[in-house]
Amino acid sequence: MPTAVQVTRTGGPEVLELAEIEPGPPGAGELLVDLAAAGVNYIDTYQRQGIYPIDLPFVLGSEGAGTVVETGEGVTEFAPGDRVTWQGVLGSYAQRAVVPASATVKVPEGVSDGTAAATMLQGLTAHYLVRSTYEVQAGDDILVHAAAGGVGLLLVQLAKARGARVLATVSTDEKAELARGAGADHVIRYDREDFAAATRELTNGEGVAAVYDGVGKSTIDGSLASLKIRGTLALFGAASGPVPPIDPQRLNSGGSLFLTRPTLGHYLRTREELDWRASELFAAVQDGSLNVRIGGRYPLADARKAHEDLQGRRTTGKLLLIP
Ligand code: NDP
Repeated sequence: MPTAVQVTRTGGPEVLELAEIEPGPPGAGELLVDLAAAGVNYIDTYQRQGIYPIDLPFVLGSEGAGTVVETGEGVTEFAPGDRVTWQGVLGSYAQRAVVPASATVKVPEGVSDGTAAATMLQGLTAHYLVRSTYEVQAGDDILVHAAAGGVGLLLVQLAKARGARVLATVSTDEKAELARGAGADHVIRYDREDFAAATRELTNGEGVAAVYDGVGKSTIDGSLASLKIRGTLALFGAASGPVPPIDPQRLNSGGSLFLTRPTLGHYLRTREELDWRASELFAAVQDGSLNVRIGGRYPLADARKAHEDLQGRRTTGKLLLIP
């Protein structure tokens, strides 16, 4: 019987337990996949804690890559033996999973299963943020928080590729090195420095065109204070905790600012949109212009440790579970 990481009660990392679960045959439009790698994402920690409620029990994990074992009725674009990857499908911390064909793309040649699983959720996120939420323009100054994290390292690279000058925040020297390696022009240690003041100084008092903020509670005020007139704050996560209510008048006094709280699903509205974003990302991985850093690989049985490390700010890049 295949193994999976199950949640039977919400709580800390200790609620993650191995269980033997047969995902069953694929239904219409579905694929049964043997996983080679499952991606660990911050959203998994929100779901484990019950911040994003899910009916119990459930198998955690939203992202993976592996080989198709069997296809369900009506599936024409995938066949057994195909290497595939997906995101947004609960049940991916597992040796075997059933996934809808509609959420799945083929892994291109030359891209390993691990890199594919590491690219999907965080890569698609970085792509929609710099292409569609606030479309970065050549010459823009932008600010990326937690720049050595999974989404962060990808955001820095994609924004640089569009010709931006990238300011990046991190909390350790090792993370600063990684952010610089990804192309950040200026790295700010927001654990010991007022990053909004540093941003103003680095932009001659003007502020940045956009802030990409997945940190939330501890950064929101500084992020608003870092924007130039008519700048955009893309608040896409809350790694430090949920953001309290904001008075819209602050957007006025800050300089007619734009505040958005985007989510990946709303930027993958059609098969065409998924294929566009995924094909651009994988083309960049294949030609070497996008480096997807895998910061840690853990056996499925160590999912708890992966969560502790991620929430303990001890990780860089992407974490994978290897079934
Ligand atoms: P990361 O690898 O970026 O890990 C989180 C990082 O946040 C840490 O490494 C740490 O970097 C920073 N951080 C700052 N304060 C805290 C804190 N109090 N506790 C923990 N971490 C803190 O994770 P992901 O790349 O998986 O996700 C980044 C963010 O993006 C998350 O908020 C996630 O929910 C969000 N997200 C949103 C999506 C969307 O569509 N809206 C899709 C995907 C992700 P440092 O030590 O340098 O401060």
